[in-house]
Amino acid sequence: MGIDVLADPKGQLKRRLVGISLGVATVGTAWLLSQNPDATESVYAAKIAPWIASNLSKLSGRIPFSIGEVLIGLFVLRQVVGVFRGCLSLRKPDHGLLKLLGKGSLRFLSDAGVLITMFYLFWGFNYFRPPILERLAWEESDITVAELSILGKDAVAATNLAYVKLHGSPDLGISTPDPDNTLFLEEAIDEGFRRASTLLGEPRGVFREFGRAKPLFVSSALHYLGLSGFYFPWTGEAGYNRTVPAVDLPQVMAHEKAHQRGFARENEANFMGFVVCVKSPDPLAQYSAALFAQQQILSALAQEDVQQYIEIVADRCPGVTRDIEDRRKYWKAFENKGSKVARSVNMAARTAAVRVNDAYLKSQKVEGGVRSYTKSLYLIVAYLTRNGPASYPWLLGANGLPGSP
Ligand SMILES: [Zn+2]
Repeated sequence: MGIDVLADPKGQLKRRLVGISLGVATVGTAWLLSQNPDATESVYAAKIAPWIASNLSKLSGRIPFSIGEVLIGLFVLRQVVGVFRGCLSLRKPDHGLLKLLGKGSLRFLSDAGVLITMFYLFWGFNYFRPPILERLAWEESDITVAELSILGKDAVAATNLAYVKLHGSPDLGISTPDPDNTLFLEEAIDEGFRRASTLLGEPRGVFREFGRAKPLFVSSALHYLGLSGFYFPWTGEAGYNRTVPAVDLPQVMAHEKAHQRGFARENEANFMGFVVCVKSPDPLAQYSAALFAQQQILSALAQEDVQQYIEIVADRCPGVTRDIEDRRKYWKAFENKGSKVARSVNMAARTAAVRVNDAYLKSQKVEGGVRSYTKSLYLIVAYLTRNGPASYPWLLGANGLPGSP
């Protein structure tokens, strides 16, 4: 069997071994970079990654639909065809099961090696950058209930005002509709990225020009899975679920575009999504950002002081309350659509998360002050406390103070 596999008339074995070697070398490089975050930042994240992702996304951006979705489909097809052909070859007298398994394993490992190499080289090494808190030199400190309460009130006021700015009244009578043109929205988000670049002092390359975000064909399936989009590093495409409520759309697009710009960790992409939307000139993006911040802050406050939470949410204007309720129904729908097994897995995951959080808080002997419930909440709170009244530029303008972009 060994000799049969090694007899390599078409150079197939050689190609397989190259793929496997690439994979092994990439895993080794990933380990090295994970031990050297500063080198990863100054060489890979500042220069190599933005250059690759920017050019790749501009190239794939010439095609109006998501190439990533097509590639996923083709990849699945290739695996199915491979298994099918393998089964057929079993009927030939000189093709034993062992030989088939050997060839199949080599093929799989080689495919995996090439895909892993492209994943890390094009984008994945960004995971080994120092965390954004470190990059910004922001000290980590506790969040108190009093802080949550003040920031929650500010966020509610900012959300209300953004809503009125968007619709011209505190109650539109219907849910906030989808934007007429997502291209305009995206241009406004891109402007938010440009403004955030000077604010956050990230490497310049991170904020260069990238290809457009793309609505995904499988959006309904993503809704069922509770996903709002995904970044596809092999093509540099930021794909978003086009069925999400309008109030979530800017934040979702900005989140995926943040991934595209090298913010690999989820909490950092959430945070960047918030910052660029809040900095964007588009009222829907500003509304989306303020709503995102208020929900993060108030859900943490609700776990600490329900009474304060109830008092603060009572100040929401009717249109905002409707949007939040409709949004809740949208995301709730996917939980109810799944099979019994899927629903119980979902419930089990949620229960486990609550228990872990509870144990964590107890282990930290938290009294009065609360640690962040999610890391993106922590980053948003850190940003808001540092920027004070300038956090929501449109609020400054409303108070007669100069608004800063
Ligand atoms: Zn993400």
